[in-house]
Amino acid sequence: MIWLTIDIEKITDMNFNVLWKKEPVLDYEKVVDDFLSIKKDHHATAFILGTFAKKYPQIVKKLYKNGVEISCHGMYHNLVYKEGFKEWSKRVTEAKDILENLISERVLGYRSPSWSMPFEKRYYEELARVGFEYSSSYFPMKNYMYGNSIDRKKSFKIYTKFGTIEERPILKYTIPFSGGVYLRVLPLSVLKMLFKKSKDSILYIHPYELLEDNLLKRFKEYADLNLDYFLAFYSFGSTQKKIKTVLRYE
Ligand SMILES: [Zn+2]
Repeated sequence: MIWLTIDIEKITDMNFNVLWKKEPVLDYEKVVDDFLSIKKDHHATAFILGTFAKKYPQIVKKLYKNGVEISCHGMYHNLVYKEGFKEWSKRVTEAKDILENLISERVLGYRSPSWSMPFEKRYYEELARVGFEYSSSYFPMKNYMYGNSIDRKKSFKIYTKFGTIEERPILKYTIPFSGGVYLRVLPLSVLKMLFKKSKDSILYIHPYELLEDNLLKRFKEYADLNLDYFLAFYSFGSTQKKIKTVLRYE
């Protein structure tokens, strides 16, 4: 079964070096409705940024009421390896508290912004200390912004003095394929084959990938064009259609 996950943040929170001229206003309510209609009976988790939860508390509550697990994506979408350990810990705790206050339930999962949490025991120890039980922060390919060089195909446990954290890594077959830029860029035929090969993969998406418009075209007025802009927005076909197909609804 594919685990459907969405990292909920504003479009301007991304860590790509996109030079925004003005902030695009997206209809996040509609995006979340689309997500819920795609979700159907799938096990789905929303990793929500603390600042987003503060601005749109009703969206967090709506997801929760509709059976989506609420998990934490940090507070400000800073790259963890740049943020500094103490600041990161403080902000993760702050974001977790905001989410827990909104849903009156414990938040158990954490995904670092842009897979940027270093694969070091002290980070897992801290996650356990503040009350998390799992992480989905391991990306199996190193690139200029994030990732690890060792490919790990299955969930694994990290034992710390404060408790155990299960790490649920992203899968790859030669390259990662199951979300973000990979999902946008790879053609549907290739995606279908890769998802078929790996039934336990983690599909990870973002709100802006659910928009049907051609973002590249639309966002020219909002940002300067550069390589990061293309990486952030280029998509080979409708990403929403790809998501529905790999979830086997089409
Ligand atoms: Zn994110």
